[in-house]
Amino acid sequence: MIAIDGPAGAGKSTVGRALADRLGIGYLDTGAMYRAMTFAALQRGVVEGDLDEVAAMAPTVDLVLEGGRVLVDGADATAAIRGREVTEAVSQVSANPAVRDVLVQRQRDWVVEHHGGVVEGRDIGTVVFPDAQLKLYITASARVRAERRVRDIGGDVDEVEASILKRDRVDSSRAHSPLTESDDAIIVDTTGMSIDEVVTHVLEQLA
Ligand code: C5P
Repeated sequence: MIAIDGPAGAGKSTVGRALADRLGIGYLDTGAMYRAMTFAALQRGVVEGDLDEVAAMAPTVDLVLEGGRVLVDGADATAAIRGREVTEAVSQVSANPAVRDVLVQRQRDWVVEHHGGVVEGRDIGTVVFPDAQLKLYITASARVRAERRVRDIGGDVDEVEASILKRDRVDSSRAHSPLTESDDAIIVDTTGMSIDEVVTHVLEQLA
């Protein structure tokens, strides 16, 4: 299996999907799982900063990721998990060890069921699958990441950059499974590259 990690908005999902398509294997976006948990907390009125409340909720959330759609407790949350409210709260929910335990188990089960695949997130090569055949750490300058996001979903570039930097800070400094480069990961800085160039570059690494 192939592990892809890196900070917010670096192009991990686009590269991961393209890679999975090209190789004819499955693709798992673990960020969507953390976003879905956060959506569930907001729906249920669970305070995202309350460690015990979030921990108690985590095993009870019914999560389905299928064909690009995300169902949370039976309701379609595909669009909502990308919204501002979830994006602002997701790093705090993700820092909860109980949430990580539940989701990491599901990620490992997914890989067994799919006989491998491309799995993308923050701790995939370091914690979830330390024995991955290929580990990529995809990054880009915060400015470029913000510009890409604004191109995709709109917004003010300064605000988006500030939000990205805040999320990176929380994700990199948490005690449990922080975002960090694995020693054996190939680092791909996509700052001056188009997504097509990145995919070509990554496929060359596999050849
Ligand atoms: O990849 P995406 O930006 O959608 O991830 C949303 C959030 O989910 C991240 O900012 C991080 O807090 C969390 N996450 C995580 N571990 C992963 C994937 C995502 O903590 N493996």
